[in-house]
Amino acid sequence: AKALKRNTWMFFTPELAEASRERFTMDTGLRRALDRQELVLHYQPQARVEGSRVFGAEALVRWTTPEGEVIGPGRFIALAEEAGLIHLIGRWVLGEACRQAREWELAGLPLRVAVNLSGLQVVQGDIVGDVRDALEQSGLSPSRLELEITEGFVIGHADEGLDRLNGLRRLGVELAVDDFGTGYSSLSYLTRLPVQCLKIDRSFITDVPGDADDETIVAAILSIAERLGLDVIAEGVENATQLEFLRSLGCPAYQGDYLSPPLTATEFAQRWGAGGLA
Ligand code: C2E
Ligand code: CA
Ligand code: CA
Ligand code: CA
Repeated sequence: AKALKRNTWMFFTPELAEASRERFTMDTGLRRALDRQELVLHYQPQARVEGSRVFGAEALVRWTTPEGEVIGPGRFIALAEEAGLIHLIGRWVLGEACRQAREWELAGLPLRVAVNLSGLQVVQGDIVGDVRDALEQSGLSPSRLELEITEGFVIGHADEGLDRLNGLRRLGVELAVDDFGTGYSSLSYLTRLPVQCLKIDRSFITDVPGDADDETIVAAILSIAERLGLDVIAEGVENATQLEFLRSLGCPAYQGDYLSPPLTATEFAQRWGAGGLA
Protein backbone atom coordinates (compact mmCIF):
# COMPACT_ATOMS: atom_id res chain seq x y z
CA ALA A 1 0.00 0.00 0.00
CA LYS A 2 2.82 2.32 0.88
CA ALA A 3 4.75 1.72 -2.34
CA LEU A 4 1.58 2.46 -4.27
CA LYS A 5 0.94 5.64 -2.38
CA ARG A 6 4.48 6.84 -2.94
CA ASN A 7 4.20 6.42 -6.69
CA THR A 8 0.74 7.86 -7.08
CA TRP A 9 1.85 11.32 -8.09
CA MET A 10 3.88 9.93 -10.96
CA PHE A 11 1.25 7.64 -12.41
CA PHE A 12 -2.01 9.48 -11.91
CA THR A 13 -1.30 13.11 -12.74
CA PRO A 14 -3.85 14.22 -15.34
CA GLU A 15 -1.32 14.98 -18.07
CA LEU A 16 1.28 12.38 -18.77
CA ALA A 17 3.50 15.03 -20.32
CA GLU A 18 3.28 17.07 -17.19
CA ALA A 19 4.12 14.01 -15.14
CA SER A 20 7.28 13.28 -17.07
CA ARG A 21 8.24 16.93 -16.96
CA GLU A 22 7.87 16.93 -13.19
CA ARG A 23 9.86 13.74 -13.09
CA PHE A 24 12.65 15.27 -15.15
CA THR A 25 12.67 18.39 -13.01
CA MET A 26 12.69 16.34 -9.82
CA ASP A 27 15.54 14.16 -11.07
CA THR A 28 17.87 17.00 -12.03
CA GLY A 29 16.62 19.01 -9.07
CA LEU A 30 17.48 16.22 -6.66
CA ARG A 31 21.02 15.88 -8.03
CA ARG A 32 21.46 19.61 -7.53
CA ALA A 33 19.86 19.41 -4.09
CA LEU A 34 22.59 17.03 -2.97
CA ASP A 35 25.36 19.27 -4.34
CA ARG A 36 23.88 22.44 -2.92
CA GLN A 37 22.95 20.99 0.46
CA GLU A 38 19.23 21.62 0.06
CA LEU A 39 18.30 18.48 1.98
CA VAL A 40 17.52 18.87 5.66
CA LEU A 41 16.54 16.48 8.43
CA HIS A 42 13.64 17.08 10.76
CA TYR A 43 13.34 15.11 13.99
CA GLN A 44 10.24 13.65 15.59
CA PRO A 45 10.56 12.74 19.28
CA GLN A 46 9.81 9.25 20.56
CA ALA A 47 8.72 8.81 24.19
CA ARG A 48 8.01 6.09 26.71
CA VAL A 49 4.28 5.74 27.38
CA GLU A 50 4.89 5.44 31.14
CA GLY A 51 6.59 8.57 32.39
CA SER A 52 6.60 10.28 28.97
CA ARG A 53 10.41 10.39 28.86
CA VAL A 54 11.71 11.30 25.39
CA PHE A 55 14.42 8.76 24.52
CA GLY A 56 14.76 9.04 20.77
CA ALA A 57 14.14 11.00 17.61
CA GLU A 58 13.28 9.76 14.13
CA ALA A 59 15.14 11.62 11.40
CA LEU A 60 12.85 12.51 8.47
CA VAL A 61 14.35 14.03 5.34
CA ARG A 62 12.97 17.13 3.60
CA TRP A 63 14.08 18.98 0.51
CA THR A 64 14.02 22.74 0.66
CA THR A 65 14.19 24.09 -2.89
CA PRO A 66 15.91 27.40 -3.71
CA GLU A 67 12.37 28.80 -4.15
CA GLY A 68 11.72 27.99 -0.51
CA GLU A 69 9.30 25.15 -1.16
CA VAL A 70 9.58 22.25 1.31
CA ILE A 71 9.13 18.90 -0.43
CA GLY A 72 8.37 15.86 1.73
CA PRO A 73 10.03 12.46 1.27
CA GLY A 74 6.79 10.97 -0.06
CA ARG A 75 7.39 12.99 -3.22
CA PHE A 76 11.04 12.22 -3.85
CA ILE A 77 12.30 9.04 -2.15
CA ALA A 78 10.69 6.67 -4.68
CA LEU A 79 12.02 8.84 -7.50
CA ALA A 80 15.48 8.86 -5.93
CA GLU A 81 15.34 5.06 -5.85
CA GLU A 82 14.48 4.91 -9.57
CA ALA A 83 17.08 7.50 -10.49
CA GLY A 84 19.82 5.65 -8.62
CA LEU A 85 20.25 8.54 -6.20
CA ILE A 86 19.04 6.78 -3.08
CA HIS A 87 22.54 5.65 -2.10
CA LEU A 88 23.86 9.20 -2.16
CA ILE A 89 20.85 10.52 -0.28
CA GLY A 90 20.92 7.62 2.15
CA ARG A 91 24.60 8.16 2.94
CA TRP A 92 23.98 11.85 3.49
CA VAL A 93 21.06 11.12 5.82
CA LEU A 94 23.13 8.62 7.83
CA GLY A 95 26.06 11.02 8.15
CA GLU A 96 23.93 14.00 9.08
CA ALA A 97 21.76 12.10 11.60
CA CYS A 98 24.85 10.66 13.33
CA ARG A 99 26.57 14.06 13.37
CA GLN A 100 23.48 15.66 14.92
CA ALA A 101 23.03 12.91 17.50
CA ARG A 102 26.68 13.25 18.54
CA GLU A 103 26.31 17.02 18.80
CA TRP A 104 23.25 16.58 21.01
CA GLU A 105 25.06 13.96 23.09
CA LEU A 106 27.93 16.38 23.72
CA ALA A 107 25.41 19.12 24.59
CA GLY A 108 23.80 16.95 27.26
CA LEU A 109 20.91 15.65 25.14
CA PRO A 110 21.58 11.92 24.91
CA LEU A 111 19.10 10.57 22.37
CA ARG A 112 18.94 7.56 20.12
CA VAL A 113 18.38 8.75 16.58
CA ALA A 114 16.37 6.57 14.19
CA VAL A 115 17.18 6.60 10.47
CA ASN A 116 14.92 5.19 7.72
CA LEU A 117 16.67 2.88 5.29
CA SER A 118 15.37 2.29 1.79
CA GLY A 119 15.24 -1.39 0.90
CA LEU A 120 17.55 -0.69 -2.03
CA GLN A 121 20.14 0.69 0.35
CA VAL A 122 20.15 -2.61 2.18
CA VAL A 123 20.28 -5.02 -0.77
CA GLN A 124 22.50 -2.99 -3.13
CA GLY A 125 25.67 -1.14 -2.22
CA ASP A 126 27.57 -1.47 1.02
CA ILE A 127 25.18 -0.53 3.81
CA VAL A 128 27.34 -2.01 6.56
CA GLY A 129 30.32 0.06 5.37
CA ASP A 130 28.16 3.18 5.03
CA VAL A 131 26.84 2.86 8.58
CA ARG A 132 30.32 2.11 9.95
CA ASP A 133 31.66 5.23 8.20
CA ALA A 134 28.89 7.42 9.58
CA LEU A 135 29.53 6.15 13.12
CA GLU A 136 33.30 6.56 12.85
CA GLN A 137 33.17 10.02 11.34
CA SER A 138 30.71 11.28 13.94
CA GLY A 139 32.10 9.49 16.97
CA LEU A 140 28.54 8.43 17.86
CA SER A 141 28.29 5.24 19.86
CA PRO A 142 26.46 2.56 17.83
CA SER A 143 23.78 2.00 20.48
CA ARG A 144 22.63 5.58 19.85
CA LEU A 145 21.67 4.71 16.26
CA GLU A 146 18.56 2.79 15.25
CA LEU A 147 17.90 1.78 11.66
CA GLU A 148 14.31 1.34 10.44
CA ILE A 149 13.53 -1.11 7.67
CA THR A 150 10.00 -1.58 6.35
CA GLU A 151 8.09 -4.77 6.85
CA GLY A 152 7.42 -4.94 3.12
CA PHE A 153 11.13 -4.98 2.40
CA VAL A 154 11.81 -7.59 5.03
CA ILE A 155 9.27 -9.96 3.49
CA GLY A 156 10.48 -9.50 -0.07
CA HIS A 157 14.18 -9.80 0.68
CA ALA A 158 14.43 -11.89 3.80
CA ASP A 159 17.22 -14.07 2.45
CA GLU A 160 19.46 -11.55 0.64
CA GLY A 161 18.82 -8.96 3.30
CA LEU A 162 19.45 -11.14 6.31
CA ASP A 163 23.25 -11.15 6.02
CA ARG A 164 23.24 -7.38 5.74
CA LEU A 165 20.97 -6.98 8.73
CA ASN A 166 23.17 -9.31 10.76
CA GLY A 167 26.20 -7.27 9.66
CA LEU A 168 24.50 -4.07 10.82
CA ARG A 169 23.58 -5.67 14.11
CA ARG A 170 27.21 -6.72 14.64
CA LEU A 171 28.16 -3.04 14.43
CA GLY A 172 26.10 -2.57 17.59
CA VAL A 173 23.26 -0.51 16.11
CA GLU A 174 19.60 -1.22 16.87
CA LEU A 175 17.21 -2.42 14.18
CA ALA A 176 13.47 -1.72 13.96
CA VAL A 177 10.74 -2.98 11.63
CA ASP A 178 8.87 0.07 10.29
CA ASP A 179 5.17 0.12 9.30
CA PHE A 180 4.66 -3.16 11.13
CA GLY A 181 1.32 -4.86 10.48
CA THR A 182 0.91 -3.67 6.89
CA GLY A 183 2.87 -6.41 5.18
CA TYR A 184 0.62 -9.46 5.63
CA SER A 185 3.73 -11.35 6.59
CA SER A 186 4.07 -14.63 8.38
CA LEU A 187 5.19 -13.99 11.91
CA SER A 188 7.81 -16.71 11.83
CA TYR A 189 10.28 -14.44 10.01
CA LEU A 190 10.31 -12.16 13.02
CA THR A 191 12.19 -14.72 15.05
CA ARG A 192 14.82 -15.00 12.30
CA LEU A 193 15.51 -11.29 12.05
CA PRO A 194 18.03 -9.52 14.27
CA VAL A 195 15.54 -6.75 15.17
CA GLN A 196 14.90 -5.20 18.56
CA CYS A 197 11.83 -3.07 17.90
CA LEU A 198 8.51 -3.09 16.02
CA LYS A 199 6.91 0.16 14.94
CA ILE A 200 3.12 -0.30 14.72
CA ASP A 201 1.92 1.34 11.53
CA ARG A 202 -0.09 4.53 11.94
CA SER A 203 -3.07 3.03 10.07
CA PHE A 204 -3.79 0.78 13.09
CA ILE A 205 -3.62 3.66 15.55
CA THR A 206 -5.91 6.11 13.72
CA ASP A 207 -9.21 4.48 14.75
CA VAL A 208 -8.40 3.19 18.24
CA PRO A 209 -10.09 3.06 20.59
CA GLY A 210 -13.32 2.27 18.79
CA ASP A 211 -12.48 0.13 15.77
CA ALA A 212 -12.66 -3.39 17.18
CA ASP A 213 -10.49 -4.91 14.44
CA ASP A 214 -7.72 -2.36 14.89
CA GLU A 215 -7.91 -2.76 18.67
CA THR A 216 -7.42 -6.49 18.25
CA ILE A 217 -4.48 -6.04 15.89
CA VAL A 218 -2.71 -3.58 18.19
CA ALA A 219 -3.24 -5.88 21.18
CA ALA A 220 -1.96 -8.86 19.19
CA ILE A 221 1.18 -7.03 18.07
CA LEU A 222 1.90 -5.97 21.65
CA SER A 223 1.45 -9.49 22.92
CA ILE A 224 3.71 -11.03 20.26
CA ALA A 225 6.36 -8.39 20.83
CA GLU A 226 6.35 -8.97 24.55
CA ARG A 227 6.77 -12.70 24.12
CA LEU A 228 9.61 -12.18 21.66
CA GLY A 229 11.25 -9.62 23.92
CA LEU A 230 10.88 -6.79 21.38
CA ASP A 231 10.34 -3.12 22.09
CA VAL A 232 7.31 -1.47 20.43
CA ILE A 233 6.75 2.10 19.24
CA ALA A 234 3.20 3.02 18.21
CA GLU A 235 3.30 5.52 15.33
CA GLY A 236 0.95 8.37 14.49
CA VAL A 237 -0.50 8.97 17.95
CA GLU A 238 -2.53 12.14 17.52
CA ASN A 239 -4.56 12.48 20.74
CA ALA A 240 -4.77 11.68 24.45
CA THR A 241 -7.48 9.04 23.90
CA GLN A 242 -5.22 6.98 21.64
CA LEU A 243 -2.37 7.31 24.12
CA GLU A 244 -4.60 6.19 27.01
CA PHE A 245 -5.70 3.18 24.99
CA LEU A 246 -2.07 2.25 24.32
CA ARG A 247 -1.25 2.72 27.99
CA SER A 248 -4.09 0.39 28.99
CA LEU A 249 -2.58 -2.32 26.78
CA GLY A 250 0.93 -1.78 28.12
CA CYS A 251 2.40 -0.37 24.91
CA PRO A 252 6.00 0.64 25.77
CA ALA A 253 6.56 3.69 23.54
CA TYR A 254 4.97 6.05 21.04
CA GLN A 255 5.49 8.91 18.65
CA GLY A 256 3.12 11.17 16.78
CA ASP A 257 1.79 14.67 16.44
CA TYR A 258 0.22 14.48 19.93
CA LEU A 259 3.72 14.52 21.43
CA SER A 260 5.19 16.62 18.63
CA PRO A 261 5.31 16.76 14.84
CA PRO A 262 8.79 16.54 13.28
CA LEU A 263 10.88 19.59 14.25
CA THR A 264 14.06 21.20 12.97
CA ALA A 265 17.14 20.29 15.01
CA THR A 266 17.12 23.77 16.54
CA GLU A 267 13.44 23.55 17.54
CA PHE A 268 14.03 20.08 18.93
CA ALA A 269 16.90 21.19 21.15
CA GLN A 270 14.94 24.25 22.30
CA ARG A 271 12.09 22.06 23.43
CA TRP A 272 13.97 19.06 24.83
CA GLY A 273 17.52 20.24 25.35
CA ALA A 274 19.37 21.20 28.51
CA GLY A 275 17.83 18.74 30.93
CA GLY A 276 14.41 18.91 29.31
CA LEU A 277 14.37 15.17 28.66
CA ALA A 278 13.57 13.97 32.13
P1 C2E B 1 7.59 6.80 8.11
O1 C2E B 1 8.95 6.25 8.32
O2 C2E B 1 6.44 5.92 8.45
O3 C2E B 1 7.54 8.17 8.91
C1 C2E B 1 6.42 8.65 9.59
C2 C2E B 1 5.67 9.68 8.76
O4 C2E B 1 4.45 10.00 9.44
C3 C2E B 1 6.40 10.99 8.61
O5 C2E B 1 6.05 11.56 7.35
C4 C2E B 1 5.83 11.83 9.75
O6 C2E B 1 5.93 13.21 9.54
C5 C2E B 1 4.40 11.38 9.73
N1 C2E B 1 3.75 11.51 11.03
C6 C2E B 1 4.32 11.48 12.25
N2 C2E B 1 3.41 11.60 13.22
C7 C2E B 1 2.21 11.69 12.62
C8 C2E B 1 0.85 11.82 13.11
O7 C2E B 1 0.60 11.88 14.30
N3 C2E B 1 -0.13 11.87 12.18
C9 C2E B 1 0.12 11.81 10.84
N4 C2E B 1 -0.90 11.85 10.00
N5 C2E B 1 1.38 11.68 10.35
C10 C2E B 1 2.41 11.62 11.23
P2 C2E B 1 7.16 12.09 6.35
O8 C2E B 1 8.20 12.84 7.10
O9 C2E B 1 6.44 12.79 5.23
O10 C2E B 1 7.84 10.78 5.80
C11 C2E B 1 7.15 9.90 4.95
C12 C2E B 1 7.93 8.65 4.71
O11 C2E B 1 9.10 8.94 3.94
C13 C2E B 1 8.45 8.00 5.98
O12 C2E B 1 7.42 7.24 6.56
C14 C2E B 1 9.58 7.15 5.43
O13 C2E B 1 9.10 5.93 4.93
C15 C2E B 1 10.09 8.00 4.28
N6 C2E B 1 11.32 8.70 4.70
C16 C2E B 1 11.45 9.81 5.46
N7 C2E B 1 12.74 10.13 5.63
C17 C2E B 1 13.45 9.18 4.95
C18 C2E B 1 14.86 8.96 4.75
O14 C2E B 1 15.74 9.69 5.24
N8 C2E B 1 15.20 7.88 3.96
C19 C2E B 1 14.27 7.04 3.44
N9 C2E B 1 14.68 5.99 2.71
N10 C2E B 1 12.95 7.22 3.62
C20 C2E B 1 12.54 8.28 4.37
CA1 CA C 1 10.10 5.33 9.81
CA1 CA D 1 6.35 4.12 9.75
CA1 CA E 1 -8.70 1.68 10.53
